Amino acid sequence: MSRFFSSKYNQLVPYVPGEQPKARKYVKLNTNESPFPPSAKAIAYASEAAGHLQLYPDPDCKVLTEKVASMLGVDPEEVLLTNGSDEILNFAFMAFCDDHSPAIFPDITYGFYKVFAQLNNVPYEEIPLEKDFTIDTKAYMDNHGTIFIANPNAPTGIALTVAEIEEILKANPGHVVVIDEAYVDFGTESCVPLIRKYDNLLVTQTFSKSRSMAGARLGFGVGCKALIQDLNTVKYSTNPYNINRMTMAAGLGVLADEAYTQANCRAVCATRTQTREALLQLGFEVAESKTNFLFARHRGFGGAELYAKLKENGILVRHFNQPRIQDYIRITIGSSQEMQVFVNTLRTILEEC
Ligand code: PMP
Repeated sequence: MSRFFSSKYNQLVPYVPGEQPKARKYVKLNTNESPFPPSAKAIAYASEAAGHLQLYPDPDCKVLTEKVASMLGVDPEEVLLTNGSDEILNFAFMAFCDDHSPAIFPDITYGFYKVFAQLNNVPYEEIPLEKDFTIDTKAYMDNHGTIFIANPNAPTGIALTVAEIEEILKANPGHVVVIDEAYVDFGTESCVPLIRKYDNLLVTQTFSKSRSMAGARLGFGVGCKALIQDLNTVKYSTNPYNINRMTMAAGLGVLADEAYTQANCRAVCATRTQTREALLQLGFEVAESKTNFLFARHRGFGGAELYAKLKENGILVRHFNQPRIQDYIRITIGSSQEMQVFVNTLRTILEEC
């Protein structure tokens, strides 16, 4: 740390992204990326946009916002596109959290929530998940803060129903409830249709997972017009050109190729079912996942040990050295061939020990 670093960041512990190794080629099942390449239309549109990079992009992101809104069945004024959904989440911490409305989220969830709270100097409270890692909605009925829930949750993969989320929304009319739907396209019902009914609901989604665009950084928030206006105030006070031209164009390309996205989601879900079956047969406990990853533990091996042995054998998964979940590994669903390699390698590791 330099002697110039502001003391307001004394306590800040940055988010640690999953490894992006360069030295060796791994079967990469650690950052919940899609195993499929971007849509050919996304690539073609982005290439065309590359020829205009001397110009700033449209700060309103008008055309893409209209397309996303029409896909969701809402008005463009109810949508804000951002640089990954991480950016809309950070904007929500900036816009809707303070000493009077601290951030509230589960103790086991997306690690960035805690970092955003610290970055923005916002008090936060973590509500423990149940023993089986489900969210007890009753624990969110009498809060006095801005609630952040990943649905389905990460890294557990477990989802709440829309009816359960609606209970939380009803019980918290004085505070914003952010529902982070990064993994919604792999089998969960979206809360987007509730935005007209609840002016305290902000839903966030991403193009990173189901649309194979993690490298382009594109996400969005959906909520009532007033909430989106607040988030725009924050956006225009930080980075008006938050979506670059190539990403904007790639976004339009993938939305013009919805059948490709749907087919990829179906493939991921089918591979998820097969991989879960294989893990159960190998003696793992595996939660029923609604995402593009599985969260699993083996009775005989710790998570750190499994992570290390898999890595030695050329397979990267994610391990969180965190209370309650040290025994688990999180496995991204890759292509069916990659998952075959993963299961075979795992079987060998278990047999050798
Ligand atoms: N929410 C959750 C629950 C996630 O797991 C992720 C991916 N790390 C994100 C949000 C952010 O994804 P992105 O910024 O790529 O849209």
